[in-house]
Amino acid sequence: MKRSSYSRRRFIRDLSMASAAISPAISTLAACGVAPEKKLGIALVGLGGYSSGQLGPALQQTRNCYLAGIVTGTPSKAKDWSARYNIPAANIYNYENFDSIANNPAIDIVYVVLPIAMHKEYTVRAAKAGKHVICEKPMAISVSECEEMIAACRKANRMLSIGYRLHFEPFNKEMMRLGQQKVYGKILEIEAGNGYVYGGDPNAWRLKKALAGGGSLMDMGVYVVQAARYVTGEEPVYVKASEEKLRPELFTEVDETIAFELEFPSGAIARGISSYNRNLNNLKAKAEKGVFELTAAYRYGGQTGYTPSGPMQFPQVNQQALQMDDFANCILQNRRSPVPGEMGLLDLKVIEGIYRSVRSGKREKI
Ligand code: NAD
Repeated sequence: MKRSSYSRRRFIRDLSMASAAISPAISTLAACGVAPEKKLGIALVGLGGYSSGQLGPALQQTRNCYLAGIVTGTPSKAKDWSARYNIPAANIYNYENFDSIANNPAIDIVYVVLPIAMHKEYTVRAAKAGKHVICEKPMAISVSECEEMIAACRKANRMLSIGYRLHFEPFNKEMMRLGQQKVYGKILEIEAGNGYVYGGDPNAWRLKKALAGGGSLMDMGVYVVQAARYVTGEEPVYVKASEEKLRPELFTEVDETIAFELEFPSGAIARGISSYNRNLNNLKAKAEKGVFELTAAYRYGGQTGYTPSGPMQFPQVNQQALQMDDFANCILQNRRSPVPGEMGLLDLKVIEGIYRSVRSGKREKI
């Protein structure tokens, strides 16, 4: 009796001590390069602003994938990231030895977060290395590059998705639902703009045509093209566009501000603006029975939305964590990504049409 009650107390005490000791160990494991069961390993390629500010932190909140590795050309970044996120040396690559990632079973997904003109090369190399790929927006600098990327992933039997985080953001998802399901009737017009006043390094890759493929349209306008497509649920057929350049000394190689009008088969018109010289972040849809719209539409958070029935009410989410978790689930469940390479390609088709119209000054077929 005495012995049994002692054992029970001891057992309970030992159990609580053990779980206190185990919990931090589990969370350390989850945050480091050791795969928690069933989580897929992601390697980020390019540790610039978006990886550091958004993707690295988001990968601490993901459930189906985790930050397993990095690819960087800067040894000091490798050291910092390795220390911050407990990434083992075996999972750290540079641009020269990147292809040997093929031999690393800890890496399931390569996430390309490089200047736009480098997306194709690293997507193709990742697919050849047998990895699934997430590629940042815009997918590449041309439709033909997008086609090569899709073909490479198909040939390697790997999935390819684009970093279209807003498809996992509730306010934007509601705009898709209201528009595509014609909740307020047919869409008549869309007005959307995305831009900021560029105050960064005049020598940055974003201002170099060879690395960025273009300027504000590629970087910011792709969100507007996306929004016009996901609110209408249609593909635009014609475009008329024009360019404005108020700081030609800075934007010597790439576009600063572009205004464009997209015509959809239903008759809907989308008027969009992309800019490196105006602060814009709006999305408004005018339908037969009223207007629905977002402010802070394309931001990482802080969206507000209004419909003819009142304000939208949704929780704030970590868009990047949801986006990466969904892709991991697509792989685990062998399900197609809702934001596949083909979607990135369609956006590039529209972007190429917009540039054609800027050059010709005419309405162009997409
Ligand atoms: P960045 O300039 O901050 O980082 C680019 C990274 O690429 C750096 O680490 C740099 O060292 C590396 N790099 C490798 N080779 C390079 C070269 N030859 N020239 C320049 N840099 C080189 O850029 P970023 O803002 O992190 O953007 C990277 C990608 O992510 C772009 O495709 C961009 O459109 C995309 N992005 C997406 C979002 C989003 O919300 N989805 C937000 C920001 C950026």
